[in-house]
Amino acid sequence: MRSATWWARRWRVLRVAEAIFRRLVIIGIGLIGSSIARGARAFGGIAETLVICDADPEALARAQVLGLGEVYEADPAVAVAGADCVIMCAPVGALAGLAAVIAPHLAAGAILSDVGSTKQSVVRDVAPLVPAGVTFVPAHPIAGTEFSGPDAGLADLFKGRWSLVTPLPETDEGAVQKIEALWRGLGAQTARMDPAHHDRVLAIVSHLPHLIAFTICGTADDLADETRQEVLQFAASGFRDFTRIAASDPVMWRDIFLNNKEALLEMFSRFSEDAQAMARAVRWGDTDYIENKIKDSRKIRKSLIDLNQA
Ligand code: NAP
Repeated sequence: MRSATWWARRWRVLRVAEAIFRRLVIIGIGLIGSSIARGARAFGGIAETLVICDADPEALARAQVLGLGEVYEADPAVAVAGADCVIMCAPVGALAGLAAVIAPHLAAGAILSDVGSTKQSVVRDVAPLVPAGVTFVPAHPIAGTEFSGPDAGLADLFKGRWSLVTPLPETDEGAVQKIEALWRGLGAQTARMDPAHHDRVLAIVSHLPHLIAFTICGTADDLADETRQEVLQFAASGFRDFTRIAASDPVMWRDIFLNNKEALLEMFSRFSEDAQAMARAVRWGDTDYIENKIKDSRKIRKSLIDLNQA
């Protein structure tokens, strides 16, 4: 009879033999990067060797203490050498600079991917820098929390969530399938989308709600001292939910807003018209309008629950 150690070793050999990537590099070991690293270790079959890189020496040292990878390297140009897959997990505003630094060091046949929350800007900024022989496959996991840094990651963050892959028409199909396999290996479902369509969809489901949350918390903060104290003391669930969203990372969200400007401003303008119409209905006591709008919103909530995305 084989011992438990024998089976553990055998399982490790099988996992490594079947891994999608030989050497996977994660650049930016924050919430998303460290969730990929944790998921890759927990579920197996993703990478034989995980290389962790971050511009912040404290984050890199913390990743090492947490044992998130096998290799830790501060210099991205060194980190990517010999890798068959590199995933950039830094804020979208940093990706052009990062791609310029790593591009000359990417191995022929490597796949370069990212997890940025905006896709047209990433394609615009990164695609021209990608050297011949390397395939760029942009992606965006629709999962997250308001927390940042290597400690915030969760192995099952992507489980049951969507990861959108936004290849260009000329992108190599085999490379796209490998990135999709990586996300499925982390428990996500995948869908393909055109980058411009992605940005419009995300503007309404994510970027506008964050803009509203940051604004409403700012408005509460501007209130006179005694009222502000009461806002904090008696915060009902509605306001509490906004404060959770508004606790998100300022650099990340600054970059998202500025890199999805057009779609965000378009959705904001439609939202303002609808908010004005609701305010008007409140002013004039238009009960039907108010009730119907609330009923429509409830239907959206129900659809989310039905789709298991609530
Ligand atoms: P995070 O927790 O703040 O981590 C980002 C990490 O990247 C930080 O350690 C940061 O270091 C590092 N970094 C910044 N510039 C870098 C560079 N040029 N080279 C190497 N490392 C660099 O951020 P996150 O929440 O994981 O978000 C990362 C990406 O995922 C963003 O593009 C975001 O749009 C996308 N995303 C986020 C969520 C979410 O809910 N958070 C969901 C889906 C996708 P410093 O702290 O020193 O800057």
